[in-house]
Amino acid sequence: MTGSYKIIEHSYDVVVVGAGGAGLRATFGMVEKGLKTACISKVFPTRSHTVAAQGGISAALGNMGEDDWRFHMYDTVKGSDWLGDQDAIEYMCREAIPAVIELEHYGVPFSRTPEGKIYQRAFGGMTTHFGKGQAQRTCAAADLTGHAILHTLYQQSLKHNAEFFVEYIALDLIMEGEECRGVLAWCLDDGSLHLFKGHMTVLATGGYGRSYFSCTSAHTVTGDGNAMVLRAGLALQDMEFVQFHPTGIYGSGCLITEGVRGEGGYLTNSEGERFMERYAPSAKDLASRDVVSRAMTVEINEGRGVGPLKDHVYLHIEHLDPAIIHERLPGIAETSRIFAGVDVTKEPIPVLPTVHYNMGGIPTNYKAEVVTLKDGDPDKVIPGLMAIGEAACVSVHGANRLGSNSLLDLVVFGRSAAIRCAELIKPGTAHKPLANDACDKALERFDKLRNANGSRTTSEIRLDMQRVMQSKAAVFRTGSTLAEGLTQLKAIRETFADVNVADKSMIWNTDLVETLELDNLMSQAVVTMAAAGNRTESRGGHAREDFSQRDDANWLKHSLLWLNDNEVKIDYRPVHLYTLTDEVEAIPPKERVY
Ligand SMILES: Cc1cc2nc3c(=O)[nH]c(=O)nc-3n(C[C@H](O)[C@H](O)[C@H](O)COP(=O)(O)OP(=O)(O)OC[C@H]3O[C@@H](n4cnc5c(N)ncnc54)[C@H](O)[C@@H]3O)c2cc1C
Repeated sequence: MTGSYKIIEHSYDVVVVGAGGAGLRATFGMVEKGLKTACISKVFPTRSHTVAAQGGISAALGNMGEDDWRFHMYDTVKGSDWLGDQDAIEYMCREAIPAVIELEHYGVPFSRTPEGKIYQRAFGGMTTHFGKGQAQRTCAAADLTGHAILHTLYQQSLKHNAEFFVEYIALDLIMEGEECRGVLAWCLDDGSLHLFKGHMTVLATGGYGRSYFSCTSAHTVTGDGNAMVLRAGLALQDMEFVQFHPTGIYGSGCLITEGVRGEGGYLTNSEGERFMERYAPSAKDLASRDVVSRAMTVEINEGRGVGPLKDHVYLHIEHLDPAIIHERLPGIAETSRIFAGVDVTKEPIPVLPTVHYNMGGIPTNYKAEVVTLKDGDPDKVIPGLMAIGEAACVSVHGANRLGSNSLLDLVVFGRSAAIRCAELIKPGTAHKPLANDACDKALERFDKLRNANGSRTTSEIRLDMQRVMQSKAAVFRTGSTLAEGLTQLKAIRETFADVNVADKSMIWNTDLVETLELDNLMSQAVVTMAAAGNRTESRGGHAREDFSQRDDANWLKHSLLWLNDNEVKIDYRPVHLYTLTDEVEAIPPKERVY
């Protein structure tokens, strides 16, 4: 096989796949520690989806009122509906404070308080004194925080002379037994194939939002790293937990940040009622995302939606001072004008729950090392492989992520990956020889898709998959719709054998890129649907109408999903209900009240 394609070989200490917030933070952290590091990205780094993050990054700085990282930890555990690993959550919330100060020193242009401190806004689920008060914890650069952070991280990477391979699409992990030895990638610009050997491969490839019809993520968010892990015979974790953001613009799915409600925005139904007061009397419009999305869905299902089809609700900010909107929410005003034709200073914005974030992904520990269940050990480390950012399931978000905790997760665990690699790898260590056929499996898949001569187009199959995901793995799920969804997805996945890739060339072949991405999306769609059907309880973002209660006796555990052809194998890992240090105690499961 290798003979028919020429492969260019590279040797690095570390290979990072992905140049979003997580990938960039890891990359320059590695270089800083003297590790020879390649960063591969299928898009130019500053076009990664992180650029679209609006609302902000959480850290208990206490710039605008009392705060403590222990309050942040409590909120994150509660937000996760107790499925988060508490050692990792402790690590993230404590490290948040130095991580954000570090970003400030790197040059992120945060908005400022009158005294010149970093401006912090209220976000859903963020409280003080263990649920008693409202915290202002989300550090913001207007409503363009991701843009500010990503550009700063890219500048830092350039300053550290990181080596970038831009518009290279990683195809598959190169595994030797249970160890990862690197990654095979295809350079879109000149059509060449490259084997990147690394003592550590770090997947920072983002989520898989595009498996749904309506989502807030970029078209490139296809979970390539997750799919590579499945193909390597490893498990993904907690894939049933998909977050719907309450406020996607009706029709386009573009995001309106939760920061809008943090600044005083609120939702109403067709009766003009501020309905969140009924569902979450204390947190109201700032209850966590799963709670607000479900409340909106109930309002719509019970006939109190707005618009001709009564199928969405309104988000109001017209009562806010236009000067505040101009200063703190300029991006939202523009997005609403372009995508909803609305002047936010005069009219409400039509909104609908929209797929936004994947809590599930590649299981890791807080050092970013990929783990699996092996021979009774639930924390068995896979040598040579790490995952960070939205691709990873550390798990700090458990069953539901709190707003502004993802940007935090990127920088904290990007940094922690670099720290761990510096412990594990001596810079410049020679690579063991690789078997001659090490790339064959990956090349076979690539070659098969490149030469696919069937009758169905990639876009047709993708639309079929997205429709099934949208309707069957929705805000509310039931056993029968999920079972039906799984049968349909498997059938759609089988039609993939009949896909047609019209362009056979190697240079900028976007037809083939989309087909490879669709293959990746479909494997994740199948495991998501299977995991959701398997979990017979409601927890966080996973709301089963037929099992409406959380069931800690049976389900306080992470799902692990392996995919073999179209068959999903399921097993479990225990949740870490313990902390890392004695500075804080674990938080035992209790009911979530808002
Ligand atoms: C609209 C929107 C707003 C958001 N707002 C917030 C917010 O305010 N606060 C917050 O905390 N979170 C927010 N989030 C969530 C957060 O932004 C994301 O979870 C996070 O940015 C993901 O970062 P990442 O580094 O993991 O991946 P991404 O930023 O998605 O980057 C993925 C990288 O992987 C590369 N890649 C992928 N596949 C391949 C491949 N096969 N080969 C080579 N390279 C590959 C891509 O080129 C890219 O560089 C928001 C998300 C969205 C969609």
